[in-house]
Amino acid sequence: MANSSVQAIPNLILTTAKQGVKTTCPYCGVGCGVQVRNENEKMSLVGDAKHPANFGKLCIKGKNLLDTIDNSNRMPMPIVNNEEATWDNALDYVADGFKQCIEKYGPDSVAFYVSGQLLTEDYYVANKLMKGFIGSANIDTNSRLCMSSAVAAHKRAFGEDVVPMSYSDITKSDLIVICGSNLAWCHPIIYKRIREEKAKRANLKVVVIDPRYTASCEIADLHLAIAAGGDLVLFNGLLNYLANQGLIEAELLNSNDQGLTRALELAAIDSEKLSAIGLSQHSILKFFELFAESEKVVTLFSQGINQAEQGVDQGNAIINCHIASAKIGKQGSGPFSITGQPNAMGGREVGALCNTLAGHIEFNDSHLYPALEGFWHTKNIARKPGLKAVELFDAMDNGTIKAIWIMATNPALSMPDINKVTSALAKCPLVVVSDCVANNDTLAFANVKLPAHSWGEKSGTVTNSERRISRQRGFLTPFGHAKADWWIISQVAMRMGFKDAFNYQHESEIFAEHSALSGLANNGSRAFDISAFKKITQQQYSDFTPIQWPQCDSHSKVINDQLLFADKQFYTPSKKAQLIAVQSNKFNSNTSDIDRAVFTLNTGRLRDHWHTQTRTAKSALLSNHYPEPLVEINPQDAQALAITDQSLVSLKSRLGEVVVRASISSLQKMGNVFMPIHWTSLQSAQGGVCQIIEPIVDPISGQPAFKHSQVSMSAFASGSEALLLVRERLTQQFGFYQVEQKVEQGYCYHIASNKPPRMLLEHLQIFIKTLLDNTEPSVWAEDDKGCYYRYCYYQNGGVEAGIFVGEKKVELPQGWISHFFQQDNNNLAKRQVLTANVEAMSQQKIFCQCLKISYDQVTQALKTTANIDKIRELTGAGNGCGSCIGDISLLLAVNNHASNLYYDAAISRVELKAAALAG
Ligand code: SF4
Repeated sequence: MANSSVQAIPNLILTTAKQGVKTTCPYCGVGCGVQVRNENEKMSLVGDAKHPANFGKLCIKGKNLLDTIDNSNRMPMPIVNNEEATWDNALDYVADGFKQCIEKYGPDSVAFYVSGQLLTEDYYVANKLMKGFIGSANIDTNSRLCMSSAVAAHKRAFGEDVVPMSYSDITKSDLIVICGSNLAWCHPIIYKRIREEKAKRANLKVVVIDPRYTASCEIADLHLAIAAGGDLVLFNGLLNYLANQGLIEAELLNSNDQGLTRALELAAIDSEKLSAIGLSQHSILKFFELFAESEKVVTLFSQGINQAEQGVDQGNAIINCHIASAKIGKQGSGPFSITGQPNAMGGREVGALCNTLAGHIEFNDSHLYPALEGFWHTKNIARKPGLKAVELFDAMDNGTIKAIWIMATNPALSMPDINKVTSALAKCPLVVVSDCVANNDTLAFANVKLPAHSWGEKSGTVTNSERRISRQRGFLTPFGHAKADWWIISQVAMRMGFKDAFNYQHESEIFAEHSALSGLANNGSRAFDISAFKKITQQQYSDFTPIQWPQCDSHSKVINDQLLFADKQFYTPSKKAQLIAVQSNKFNSNTSDIDRAVFTLNTGRLRDHWHTQTRTAKSALLSNHYPEPLVEINPQDAQALAITDQSLVSLKSRLGEVVVRASISSLQKMGNVFMPIHWTSLQSAQGGVCQIIEPIVDPISGQPAFKHSQVSMSAFASGSEALLLVRERLTQQFGFYQVEQKVEQGYCYHIASNKPPRMLLEHLQIFIKTLLDNTEPSVWAEDDKGCYYRYCYYQNGGVEAGIFVGEKKVELPQGWISHFFQQDNNNLAKRQVLTANVEAMSQQKIFCQCLKISYDQVTQALKTTANIDKIRELTGAGNGCGSCIGDISLLLAVNNHASNLYYDAAISRVELKAAALAG
């Protein structure tokens, strides 16, 4: 077991339970089970071997969860107007504020903005309060930003938001298409399952459709480096191909389905654009043939499809191909939307998207209103959809929304056009934020701050991407006076006058009610039915084991691998699946889709960080993978703009500017740049990508198009760069650019300044002298030209601070810096810090975190072989959690310059292999 998975935790409440607590990872939608144990007053964490999502495996983020548990940046008490308050006072203040607003301006003047980090029980009471008792549908979740397009596509095709797939389908499939997802980094355990399956079955083919060469391409037989926004044309082209080959399901053809006719017409029109989406004819044909010839196909899709101007249409184009070729309703076959957040699916179940009423009951199910009123004992049910996320903040900006409650999310950073969002928050008379942190970009605007439970303290349920409901269980004493979200919401609801409906004593009561509601007047009319749990007791809830929905009251339980739509019965009025006619509005011959003066900005996630780093920034190990916000640029684009690797770059849109580090990579497509989403003003004032993203949304789902913004780019000059290492977090700013990185036993600040190196050094020296009570540097080195400096400060036999200054970032020792405070206190070690060459120091950066294999070891192995498994054998890298296997493939791709072939000629890996054989 890696050291990082064993921690001494001060507020551990488990004392002797050897078997520990089974809970779920709080990061991605894979929903892995973890087991936390108390072993000799040290907490350990391992994957839950019995959890069907992961069977004991964890990725690097899950494996290092304990690293991220501490009580820094927590709020012990509620805060009202900047003063600590009792819970009674704070809850009264919130309830009175919302009541007054509703009385004066009506129910639509208030709103809740909630989160996929909430548990289903929290979500349920928030939705019940807003839609059932306040009488407005102004509740939307941040899941709107990641998968609401898939939700809308499901509803259009299936009549209900149903993901029909299970992870086990991967093991039964002939072809897996990974589309708009860097699965290897964003959903690593699903990726690992595919990788293992592919190693077992040589005939399992994998196609990756992504503008970039990502870590996921390592297992691809065919990588289609498609032009941004080309997916709709590609899948319409596939539908047209299936029709031309006579491969449309006979039953569908014979039914004279009008949806099919129209969908085929538009698919034929879009097929004319196939030559414009950046792929060779041969690659496209290869993909079409693979799809057509494979009996069982799983198409995994995620944010790359959903976060687009036509995200819903893109989802339906994928689903159309599966319906038309009868590749759905069979084990190993179907469209599989992978959710981003741990409980995005739970939010969808309760109705926390503003356009669903509750429990998969829609607003147009008006015949169910009386039943729902009876169930909730209310007469005040919302009758129309509320405002979607972007609309909601627009309404706040124009004064329509006068009170908002934001729960467990940070919209001041994560929404598009954050300048507008922050302006709206500043104008809103009542901003309530409940969260497990004390400071973030959004909390800065809150009149009322409510301390909520964090992961490890929370108790409830979550639903993962394969519809599997699992328990999250608490194993820590809640910090200070923090409370469960469901408790906070219920207390406010009772103070607003709804005592009987919200008088819950335990989260299991909420789960039972939610389960009962799912069965309300259902009788098979809605797939989401978990009424089997409507009488669940507290003990049964405590013992709850992971299970997929549906779980109807009347059926016996099927725990795993439930096959939906096998009977070809869907939830549309006709009970048939609907083909939706969709057409791309891009790549039209009479318009120019490519303006060479601007770049298409693609956004996404890195391997070791999660969303806004609330948790992962606390881990030195996770922070060291990518310590700074960056932009990935193709070498030819960089050369044309005189941008060098690791220099600073300005990206601008109409809305603003960000300054980030250049990462020049031949794996990036020309004309496109990529930026990760993770940096907030807490770590970097300059790196928040949402500052430059236009609030363009899909017209149906309202999901922002985070994937295809247009930006300009230029080199950004600095006078000097520095690394400042200190034991404690700083609030001071030393340059126009500054990024905080957690390192082992301290912090590293990456600084860029307009000053020349000598002046920046002096500035930092003065600061350190003050910080360390006039301590002088113990060892230092300078170059002859006065441009490069290394200073180390020792106190009481240990290193306490370090300053490294140069003209350029590439001159500074990076990667190695993560272990600065762990260096030996002997003369040899001190001399090495001063004399070692930067390249050698950087090569000491850890590549494989589990087994502590350095970059140097891996790059040495790369010189001897290009075989990933051989490199693993030689070095051990990738033999722990496996998260770095994709990184080996990225190093290989760059080393071999193979990536240029992928992009320049759109030659697929299959083609390359074929060419090699022919040669
Ligand atoms: Fe957590 Fe997702 Fe990693 Fe599983 S794959 S351990 S759920 S981050």
